[in-house]
Amino acid sequence: MSEQTLPTTARVWHLDSRPEGRPVTSDFSLRQVELPAPGPGQLLVTNEYLSVDPYMRGRMSDKKSYIEPYDVNAPLDGPAVGRVLVSNAEGFAPGDSVVHVLGWRDHAVLDAAGAQKVDPDLAPLSAYLGVLGVTGLTAYIGLERFAKIKEGDTVFVSGAAGAVGSVAGQIAKLKGAGRVIGSAGSDDKVKSLIEEYSYDAAFNYKNGVVAEQLAQAAPDGIDVFFDNVGGEHLEAAIGALRLHARIVLCGMVSQYNDEKVVGPRNLWNLSVTRSDILSFMFSEELDLQPGFVREVGGWLAAGKLRYRETVRDGLDNTLDAFLSMMRGENIGKMIVKL
Ligand code: NAP
Repeated sequence: MSEQTLPTTARVWHLDSRPEGRPVTSDFSLRQVELPAPGPGQLLVTNEYLSVDPYMRGRMSDKKSYIEPYDVNAPLDGPAVGRVLVSNAEGFAPGDSVVHVLGWRDHAVLDAAGAQKVDPDLAPLSAYLGVLGVTGLTAYIGLERFAKIKEGDTVFVSGAAGAVGSVAGQIAKLKGAGRVIGSAGSDDKVKSLIEEYSYDAAFNYKNGVVAEQLAQAAPDGIDVFFDNVGGEHLEAAIGALRLHARIVLCGMVSQYNDEKVVGPRNLWNLSVTRSDILSFMFSEELDLQPGFVREVGGWLAAGKLRYRETVRDGLDNTLDAFLSMMRGENIGKMIVKL
């Protein structure tokens, strides 16, 4: 791109008001802002793929959390893959593809220290936001470090057809789980769990009581619960634990809109079964990244691990992609392609 055609403005999604319950379009606006010229150590990047993720809902509230809330009347941000247009930083050149965190916009000026180069020849660029990015890494960490998955384990994954869940079930199987069970919110998703993602059994949690459907799918109980959902799922899983089972709290998407929070009433069963319940944040476990790249990259290259993306086109549709993902309209990772 020549000097004259370099962007001097960016279109950026802003948070206009903090959502009450489920976010609505009037809580957001897409605004045009001036782009500063990149300074020393900075990059000018044009974004090609944006990620929308459940944790962003938490940042739209100002409740205490593990991450700072978005400010009102200020830009949203999040993971993105972009192409470098201008580099004032050593190690980066125009044309490089980078993962960074100034998503929700078309162009960005950012510190190169916050950008990571990725190889477009190794995998499609969008994969660095999903199966080869945070969501794949999260599934790997949860199973490897916290579930301590063992040969023959019976594993239950909630949110199983989503970005983290669809990878988690497959990793569990590849690591020797005896039986992998998933739950998801539509019959189509249940079908894809069995046909594409090597789940042994799956059910639609909207079709009946979770505990009853889980008991049918895992009559002998479960050794591991990888929870993306919380609420009724968590209570059902606690009720199904075998001796020395492990529950990994990856997320609680059923509670992010604060709709009707249901807490488990059967925690005593953790003592009865001498089981563990653990939570984690992927960003604190990055020492597992090399093992993740080796194992998950290897399974992908060997065709042993499959992934799907639900892709929305255009910056204008970013908010819709986020709201749709929160409603469950994605299979695999929800991606916005610019
Ligand atoms: P995702 O599963 O691809 O998308 C969100 C899914 O949540 C939707 O597709 C929907 O699927 C489900 N959902 C929405 N409302 C629900 C409800 N009330 N009850 C049950 N399911 C509901 O998202 P993701 O990026 O893979 O994230 C999955 C979980 O991992 C989230 O809880 C997220 O916060 C967590 N996470 C944790 C870490 C970490 O470091 N601990 C890192 C990344 C993500 P259905 O159609 O099945 O309802």
